[in-house]
Amino acid sequence: MSPEPLPAHPAARPGVRDLLDVLVGRGLAGDAPTRGQALAVLRTTDDDLLDVVAAAGRVRRHRFGRRVRLSYLVNLRSGLCPEDCTYCSQRLGSAAQVLTYSWLSTEDAVAAARAGVTGGARRVCLVASGRGPSDRDVTRVSAMVEGIKREHPDVEVCACLGLLRDGQAERLAAAGADAYNHNLNTSEATYADICTTHQYADRVETVERARGAGLSPCSGLIAGLGESDEDLVDVAFALRGLGADSVPVNFLVPFDGTPLAGTWDLTPQRCLRILAMVRFVCPTAELRLAAGREVHLRSLQPLALEIVSSIFLGDYLTSEGQAARADLDLLADGRFEIEGTRQDDAATPARTDPPGVTVRRRGPGTPVAPNA
Ligand code: SF4
Repeated sequence: MSPEPLPAHPAARPGVRDLLDVLVGRGLAGDAPTRGQALAVLRTTDDDLLDVVAAAGRVRRHRFGRRVRLSYLVNLRSGLCPEDCTYCSQRLGSAAQVLTYSWLSTEDAVAAARAGVTGGARRVCLVASGRGPSDRDVTRVSAMVEGIKREHPDVEVCACLGLLRDGQAERLAAAGADAYNHNLNTSEATYADICTTHQYADRVETVERARGAGLSPCSGLIAGLGESDEDLVDVAFALRGLGADSVPVNFLVPFDGTPLAGTWDLTPQRCLRILAMVRFVCPTAELRLAAGREVHLRSLQPLALEIVSSIFLGDYLTSEGQAARADLDLLADGRFEIEGTRQDDAATPARTDPPGVTVRRRGPGTPVAPNA
């Protein structure tokens, strides 16, 4: 008896395939999709997901091959911020049980950066809570930048200190900082819903100040705040318009004690579509998978690495990431090349810690309950 014919492959829908072919062509040329095409990426079905990831992966590999840049966060000052960003555990009135401390010493900041660099990071992000730095704060951070650069001249240093005033970006650049991060976070239309103490335009101005001073602009977004597809597309195009070299995509970590506590609107599939859309809109940017990847992408994290070209190693500002060893194993299993390490030259990066085999001692044939 001959077997029944297999059903047609549901993911091979011609409309989506045509869309993705166009997006890959534009991405390889460094061009953006139309807004409608970007929206369409966010509205593809789960059946189309692997095709979407594969298409975004082609754009990623055209610029970045299989290399991944590891970034490392150093929280210079934690908590006690006077601003009221709804998503933030460090905000005014936050009851989140996060670490609160004032400025790290220069020595402690340099030591923290050293740990990240030893772990494989090629960018160190010096971050401080607050509306923006005083001139004294800029002096303090400049000393940290100089200290890190002295030890690790090839490592990029990015500062993230809030809204900048006249001359501050220039001083950071003179100290050796390579980049400045200030995220737009969401669309201009909904910015007032996530913050009342400063405005979207303030954020845009700071990114422009940084770029004007010769710092590489790093600016990204947070998904999962309750935004619409249109908001996500708007912010992605705004980041492209600002010429962001580096685009971190965060997924909301809804801390208890903040207004967005309990907001778990994202699925792993949605996260992948968002990353793919940003990859198509910003095809030449360093796309960085940032906070929330572990809790929102979960077991689909390896697929995200086909789209992004950078991740944070280790912990975030106020939440813990997965173990740095687990990150390195994830990259090794996917045969990604960690920038700036010896693995750059290796055809097959070795897993750092083979998983080993555990002999079964439970279930049938034993008095112990089965693993079910
Ligand atoms: S300005 Fe920065 S640290 Fe302060 S609440 Fe907003 S996101 Fe958090």
